[in-house]
Formats: sequence, structure tokens, C-alpha cells
Amino acid sequence: MANKKSLDIDPKTLVINGSFQQILPGRIRTHSDSVELTKAWSVIIPARKSMVFITFLKNHTTTTGMDHLKKLRKSQTNKSQLQGLVAMADEVTKHQVFEMLCADDEVHQELEIHSMDDIVEVSVPKYPPVTQEEAKDNSKQYWPVIWKGDPNIQQLNQEVFDMLEISQNLRDIIEIAKIQKDNGELPIVTRLYDPENKQILATAHDERFKHILHHSVINCVGRVAANEVQRRGEEDDDEEANNDDVDDESSKKYLCVGYDVYTTHEPCSYCCMALVHSRIRRLFYLKPSPKTGAIAPDSAKGYCIHQSRQLNWAFHSFKWCDPELLQTVPVIDDNLFV
Ligand SMILES: [Zn+2]
Repeated sequence: MANKKSLDIDPKTLVINGSFQQILPGRIRTHSDSVELTKAWSVIIPARKSMVFITFLKNHTTTTGMDHLKKLRKSQTNKSQLQGLVAMADEVTKHQVFEMLCADDEVHQELEIHSMDDIVEVSVPKYPPVTQEEAKDNSKQYWPVIWKGDPNIQQLNQEVFDMLEISQNLRDIIEIAKIQKDNGELPIVTRLYDPENKQILATAHDERFKHILHHSVINCVGRVAANEVQRRGEEDDDEEANNDDVDDESSKKYLCVGYDVYTTHEPCSYCCMALVHSRIRRLFYLKPSPKTGAIAPDSAKGYCIHQSRQLNWAFHSFKWCDPELLQTVPVIDDNLFV
């Protein structure tokens, strides 16, 4: 039975129930306690015009990743001025910000924006603070941040983690990987699982010796896709006459909504993109792939594809960290793209 009792989450390391660690960019500070910064565009405005600026932001700003940042701070040089945060610099150029501000005559006059020089680059914390203390430090050192408790921990506590189910799925794929190894194949195995209906949807191993792109994740998603094609075919036959039945079109659109993925090794970027496209819910993996993985911030180029702001889907990722199970996972070449 799924246990909905509250989780034991370490707020600094994000280790859950002492068994697995949530992989969240900006949260796991493996090398130091320093906060990751990013660039943003700001403008200096007359302090008495703060409402004009806030209204402008509401109507015009489309950049993401600013929710944890306050939109105004006191000017560091002039008491009658404020500094307003307009947009993240990785999404719009300085010129675009200037054009946005000048598009409305009233805004640019009231805010006294005269030239591109009025747009100032600032360094801001890229991610929300993880503790109240960090919120205070960030606000003092970089840019005022908003502290509303830890939304990630709140969200994790809404999730159901059935420890028996998770460890059983992981033990199963390790056993299959061992058989693969004994057969002279790569011991990389993936399983797609429906946690709501407690159903194994597919389990697949790596077959790159047959085809270079037949990684275990791709094979597994492929099997679920093939089953789905068959299911829909049968369903369409059954419902041929019922042509006004369009209400579940959206649920049919994406393959793996609500499903969990269990895999023996941290997947490569190609496989992670397949998981984004099929819209999985959670990924659990056993061994990290420090040279080729695309999930952990300290793996390879640190893509963290599962939480990329540039993509239209994000999923939770967890790395198993209980050594008892980990040491039973067959070892593979570090340079292999899993
Ligand atoms: Zn792969």
C-alpha cells in the first residue's frame, strides 16, 4: 500500500528517507555553499513612480525565473530613486528591454527612460533560496529575494513515495542487468511503471550493438509506444461509430504522463530528451554517469535536462544513494553514453 506518511527530507542535501536524493539544479551544493548567479536587466526609476513600473511589468514582462526576486529595490546611490528588475538577460537583449520600455509613451516618460544607458545589468540569484538565512544573505549581497518557505519541500511532501515499490522496481532492473552482463551484453536496464495502477508497462535493456541509438530508455519508451499504438487501434475499432468522442484527446497526446521511470544508470541527453517528450512524472536511477549523464548538475556538462527552463516539460529526478543496493549494480565503462 502506498504510504502517505510525511517524508524525512534533509533540506540541504535533499536526501529522502535516507535512501534517495532529489536532483535539483541550484539546490545540491556539492562543491561549495556559494549561490549560483545569473544576469538580469534593471532600470533606475524615480521612487514616486513605483506603481507605473509595477503596472508595466504586469502587462509586459514575459520572462520566466523571476518569481523568487523582488521587483524593486532602493537605489544604492540616490534616495529618491528605485531600481526595478525588468527581465532575465538570458531571455531578452538589452535592446529589447529598451524597446519594451519605450513602446508606451507614458511609461518611458514617467519612468524617465532616455537611452540604452538607463538599462543596467545586475547579478541576481538564479534559484529561490533554500533557507530563510540564505534568503537574508542573498538579499544583502545580490538582489532582494522573496522567502515563502521552501516550495520544493512542500511539493515533495505532496508526492507519494512507496518505498517498497521503488526498491522492488530497482532490485528487479538490477537482476535483469546482471543477466545481461552474464550474456555478454551491456548491463543497462530501464523500466516504465504506472504508480497509480501499480503496473509494469515495459522493461527494456540496452541494444546498441544492434543499433547505435537503441539505449535502454529509448527501447523502453519505444515499447510503451508500440503498446499504445496497438491499444488505440483496438479502441478506434471499438469506437468507430462514436465520432464525437473527443474529450480524451489531450490524455492521448503524450505517451507517459503520470508514469515513473526506473533505470540502472543516469541517462544521456538523448534519452533524457525522450523522457521530456513523452512527459514522464519521475525518474529514479541507481548509478551516476559523471562523464556522460544529463541529469545531475555535476555530471558531464551539467545539463539538468529534467529541470531545464528552455524545455516545455519538467520531471522529478532521484538518485538512489543507499550503498547496500548500489554496490550490486553492474559496473560499466564511464565513457559510455547511457
Ligand atoms: Zn541514452
